[in-house]
Amino acid sequence: MIIAVDGPTASGKGTIARRLAAHFGVPHLDTGLLYRAVGRQVAINDGDPDNPADAFSACAFPDQLMQDVILRSEEVGGLASRVSVHPEVRKALFERQRAFATQPGGAVLDGRDIGTVIAPDADVKLFITASVTERARRRWLEMVAKRIDHEEEIPLIEIERDIVGRDARDISRKDAPLKAAPDALIIDTTSFDADQAFETVLEAVEAVLAGE
Ligand code: C5P
Repeated sequence: MIIAVDGPTASGKGTIARRLAAHFGVPHLDTGLLYRAVGRQVAINDGDPDNPADAFSACAFPDQLMQDVILRSEEVGGLASRVSVHPEVRKALFERQRAFATQPGGAVLDGRDIGTVIAPDADVKLFITASVTERARRRWLEMVAKRIDHEEEIPLIEIERDIVGRDARDISRKDAPLKAAPDALIIDTTSFDADQAFETVLEAVEAVLAGE
């Protein structure tokens, strides 16, 4: 069983995917972390994230980089969004994601193109979204709680601006743009808290799996 969970940044898709995986007892892959690792590796290499050759060579990042908490920072998120526009980067990361999706027993993957490119054959496709204002608010709360960035507190308005920029880049790129698969269930979590969002999603997933 493959469950594909796509959606824009800070939509709640990561939490939903993790909880779905725990509920069904299958492994979960946050594919954004792969692009974040590439973005971070470009910076370590002193490369240019907008240069396809620099971004491609950063795809050979060491596995332990995936554990580095710095990958969760806003700065690395911005780099990830820049390296992810290059088709050679997407191609380099494809097999790893595909192998994860098709492992025996099934898997849950979250990202931008899981239902459209990585696993068009997924049993359930979800597209999780929420308003920009709500996503910025959630990201801000998360940053304050975790203090990931070790920087001065970033004003909410700047986070909102960053989210709008990232959405635009993810939606407009030519290769594997952020979009709902035609057969995806679109779930707007703007007015839900995390538990309500998960319950709504679980009900929808169970209905699909039951063939309703
Ligand atoms: O989901 P997250 O915010 O960690 O993703 C960081 C960036 O990686 C996104 O803005 C997007 O540009 C890119 N990404 C992607 N395809 C995926 C997952 C993430 O292009 N499947």
